[in-house]
Amino acid sequence: MATTRKQTQATREAKLDELHERLTGAVERLVSGEDWARALAFAARFRTRSFSNTLLIWTQHQAAFETGLVPDPFPSCVAGYRQWQQFGRQVEKGQPGYQILAPVTGRFASANTSDVDSWRRLGKGEKPRAGEVVRTRMVGVRPAYVWDVSQTAGDPIPEPPAPKLLEGEAPVGLWDGLAGQVEAAGFSVVRVPHEGMIRGANGMTDYTANTVAVRENMDPAAQVKTLAHELGHVLLHGPDAEEARQHRGIGEVEAESVALMVGAAHGMDTSGYTIPYVSTWAARVDDKEPVEVVKATGERVRKTALAILDQLDTAQVGDGTPPGLDREKPQRSEPQRGEPAHERNTPRRPAALVPEPGVRPVRVSVAPAGREL
Ligand SMILES: [Zn+2]
Repeated sequence: MATTRKQTQATREAKLDELHERLTGAVERLVSGEDWARALAFAARFRTRSFSNTLLIWTQHQAAFETGLVPDPFPSCVAGYRQWQQFGRQVEKGQPGYQILAPVTGRFASANTSDVDSWRRLGKGEKPRAGEVVRTRMVGVRPAYVWDVSQTAGDPIPEPPAPKLLEGEAPVGLWDGLAGQVEAAGFSVVRVPHEGMIRGANGMTDYTANTVAVRENMDPAAQVKTLAHELGHVLLHGPDAEEARQHRGIGEVEAESVALMVGAAHGMDTSGYTIPYVSTWAARVDDKEPVEVVKATGERVRKTALAILDQLDTAQVGDGTPPGLDREKPQRSEPQRGEPAHERNTPRRPAALVPEPGVRPVRVSVAPAGREL
């Protein structure tokens, strides 16, 4: 029995290593600004998945397309094997699942929540002591599989929405929705007649005057795109800037990336988004490898865009999950009896592979006053 468990664990570890390599490879291939923009546009259509998982789905689907297993170069929505069965659909024989990383959570209890060392892992079915607070935390990842709808057959599923826009047209309600979020963050939205009033830019966020200005002499699509970019600055950056971050232009990358994801989720053409070469902004920072910088930036952008999109009541394209699917809860990893205590409380993987847990405050770093587009 113990041997079997060890073998299962070894198989899982090997799969995770393989998955980690696949992911690193996918991130390393994002070398140009265009690659990055394509990856973000893809991630916008799978926005409920982590940025890492969108890259894993993308690359594995492309490989399946190249070998003729799937008819389209892009997947439309993915789900697990049993989830497809809930829709009356069956994965077709010979269709390989796409491996992704699923979170594994554990329950922790503490009587003194402000003391980080006081949290203890609860065993299976174990109840907290009187006065203890229980929280669920991510402790690691496990490999999981999803299949695109085109790899399954059975009952038809509802078509994911696909808003269509004419060139230069802004999605209905998007300007007002974004402006409302800018105002909720304590900034007022100002429309200026031309770029001469904002240092030649399309838009400008002023952290001293608490204003977001957008020039009016552009088509409605360009105006709303600019407003989304400035909202990205408002949510992610602030006045007491972390200089290095801004010097390397990563603040602009983040704001433009948020705007691209928000636009793509509304079916807007994303070819006009300008993002500099990944290599120029992803260079080693804070001792982090470029691959890690790219992954972290992608996830930060995705979370910000998702938070913006969730507050809008606009018509948006599908989010990569079949309409109406109740996504399964993360798998609990309960400590196994007989394992040494220290081992059972330790995450199985190094932190680098673990997708960012939970929600962090979005307002983190910073820009000098008066960021321009
Ligand atoms: Zn900007």
